[in-house]
Amino acid sequence: MILILFGPPGAGKGTQSNLICDHLGFTHVSTGDLLRAAITDKSELGKEAQDFMNRGMLVPDEIVVRMVEEKLKLMDGSSIVFDGFPRTVPQALSLESIFEKLDLHLGGAVFLEVPNHLIIRRLAGRRQTPDGKYVYHIEFNPPKKVGICDVTGVELIQRTDDHEDVISARLEAYSKSTAPLKEFYKSRNCLKEVSGEGSAEEVFYEVSQAISFFKNLGKKNRHA
Ligand code: AMP
Repeated sequence: MILILFGPPGAGKGTQSNLICDHLGFTHVSTGDLLRAAITDKSELGKEAQDFMNRGMLVPDEIVVRMVEEKLKLMDGSSIVFDGFPRTVPQALSLESIFEKLDLHLGGAVFLEVPNHLIIRRLAGRRQTPDGKYVYHIEFNPPKKVGICDVTGVELIQRTDDHEDVISARLEAYSKSTAPLKEFYKSRNCLKEVSGEGSAEEVFYEVSQAISFFKNLGKKNRHA
């Protein structure tokens, strides 16, 4: 099954994707993580993306779409959760063309809803390991020792784009380019909206309900 998880920055897409992978056996495809890895690797793609990301702007559609297509070609038919892709309606349309080419189908799209004031608090207090695998929050989920990952013992960092001056640009990009995806997936009859305000476990319960709904819908459609 292919699932899209979308919503404003700081809605908890990464946290929920990790839970979906751990508990439901999905593979996580985060375009943000792929782009950050490309920057660390100093690849051509990373060089193209870096400036946009540091300024809180979206990376141009064609770069991201190319990257996702390459990734999907390498997938082995396992269930996938897309985190942070698509982020614009043209990306969503390109994804549909890729699905057609590769004979894949969208299982459903889950929108994580979080109010603006909470987004800013969540992003500004977020700290993580440099690879983004372990994520903390200075107030809501602090590590045992300040600035150090409980699991790996490495020093935590603040993402460049989680600094307050960049957060407002990211929120603007979200409302201008990503928010319209809600209407897009509603029109495709495959949207479920979930409140992202509760604890990670509470939100995950709702997200898994949505996934079960999409799974049953898929079975019904196949038998129709
Ligand atoms: P994220 O880790 O999902 O918060 O993404 C961090 C940054 O990566 C975003 O602010 C964008 O600059 C860039 N990015 C990630 N995914 C996309 C995408 N689908 N389209 C355009 N830019 C993206």
